[in-house]
Amino acid sequence: MLHGLMMQMPLLISALIKHADRHHGDTEIVSRRVEGDIHRYTYRHLHRRARQMANALASLGIRMSDRVATLAWNGYRHLELYYAVSGSGAVLHTINPRLHPEQIAWIANHAEDRALFFDLTFLPIVEAVAPHCRSIRHWVAMIDKEKMPATSKVSLLCYEDLINSHSDDYEWPEFDENLASSLCYTSGTTGNPKGALYSHRSTILHTYAIALPDSLSLSARDVVLPVVPMFHVNAWGLPYAATMTGAKMVMPGGQLDGKSLYELFEQERVTVSAGVPTVWQGLLAYTEASGLKFSTMNRTVIGGSACPPAMIKLFQEKYGVQVLHAWGMTEMSPVGTVATLKAKHLALPPQQREAVQQKQGRVVFGVDMKIVGDDGGELPWDGKAFGDLLVRGPWVVREYFKGEGGNPLRNGWFPTGDVATIDADGYMQITDRSKDVIKSGGEWISSIELENIAMAHPAVAMAACIAVKHPKWDERPLLVVVKKPNAQVTREELLAHFEGKVAKWQIPDDVVFVESIPLGATGKMLKTKLREQFRDYKLPSVA
Ligand code: ADP
Repeated sequence: MLHGLMMQMPLLISALIKHADRHHGDTEIVSRRVEGDIHRYTYRHLHRRARQMANALASLGIRMSDRVATLAWNGYRHLELYYAVSGSGAVLHTINPRLHPEQIAWIANHAEDRALFFDLTFLPIVEAVAPHCRSIRHWVAMIDKEKMPATSKVSLLCYEDLINSHSDDYEWPEFDENLASSLCYTSGTTGNPKGALYSHRSTILHTYAIALPDSLSLSARDVVLPVVPMFHVNAWGLPYAATMTGAKMVMPGGQLDGKSLYELFEQERVTVSAGVPTVWQGLLAYTEASGLKFSTMNRTVIGGSACPPAMIKLFQEKYGVQVLHAWGMTEMSPVGTVATLKAKHLALPPQQREAVQQKQGRVVFGVDMKIVGDDGGELPWDGKAFGDLLVRGPWVVREYFKGEGGNPLRNGWFPTGDVATIDADGYMQITDRSKDVIKSGGEWISSIELENIAMAHPAVAMAACIAVKHPKWDERPLLVVVKKPNAQVTREELLAHFEGKVAKWQIPDDVVFVESIPLGATGKMLKTKLREQFRDYKLPSVA
């Protein structure tokens, strides 16, 4: 056996911030703060303050592998913690503030968090959960001294005080790249949330992969605005990919409405963004109503749930913004596939190119995937056969934190819970989450396909398709629709809109119009809630 003779250097998150400082020291990070203003500084400042914070963490008694939690928006202080906590060998646990306080306390206890850093917006949550969090010793408000809130319920430390009282004289430690770097809990729509525990190695490999040209194609010429929150699977890896490539970062804080986002896009000359479809709905509603265009944004990542084809068309054909439809999950750090074209697609007319982009895409190198049938046998890549989607790779979980839920793997593969097809070119398309599939008379109906068709109707703002019990067919599709403001459309017109687009038996049985569709903690439609709401719904076909 002959070993290679290259240096052994662990892949560590601290290397990213050192790199950004040394090679892109004057590149900006711009943040909309909870204070209400716009804050600007550079990678050099970020690195200095991250080192000060690393010293502060040590002074608080935070040791290697201790968990440090955050309840925070996208902003420079949160970014400092990304590097200070993980870089010093502790584990950053980003908590989703949109979860119920009971769930937040449960997660913090499960993770055994030692400290929790929060944006002032979340003080009420902190006050509610503090008495129930057994392991947290320090509550740190991410604000300066003058703006520290008065609360008698929790004893608070001040973030800026901590930074100011510590020097930036700090050497990032070297350690095993397989040590844990950060922790994210799945939203736990079924059962308790489970922790995906990332390592330094998995994070760095994932970062290389998502920056590649056929992923997000990030570079030092980009200005990145992650709308996806830093508490939703590490903002899909963008806070790491930006330091790796030297891209400028723009952080929107808590103001995620269309107008506030649009202003930042334009003022900071953003070139690339990322978020779930519901966020883009808000932004596009604003630009459509105001007749605005994007002057610098040239691409955006859309994922987390299926991107409606109508949105791809609008972004690309009207706004000249390329849509990068991506798929992944918390258990995958999160990126698994991105729908970028191959050379042979370039000459296709827009409609056919968009048909490729509507799929969830090809794997990024490092991820392996397959679809299997009920017997576990692999299904063909013909774009038609659909089955359970399984994945594996160096940034895919092998088990959950503290062994929760037992061994999740099937013969070394992680079952995603998604049902998908894969075509001969390797483009995967999700037909459904297995729990959202509508099973009608032994046949499966894709709720995503029906929603995509509904969303293409000009009067529809949002649509969810759910299964409703049926005495003869087991389940039948019910379409739940939010109309656009002032739009008129009837049940009959919407049902007619499906004709010729899917087989007759797949057309929804009924349409109900609602004011709003419940969204989950990550901005996705909460179909579990809708199914509960319409559990006893009487379809006209059953009358
Ligand atoms: P949760 O929604 O449970 O918090 P994740 O955010 O990890 O967890 O979501 C992962 C799931 O989101 C995937 O398994 C898949 O069902 C869905 N998903 C993610 N991206 C897409 C996409 N582009 N199209 C369809 N579904 C998607």
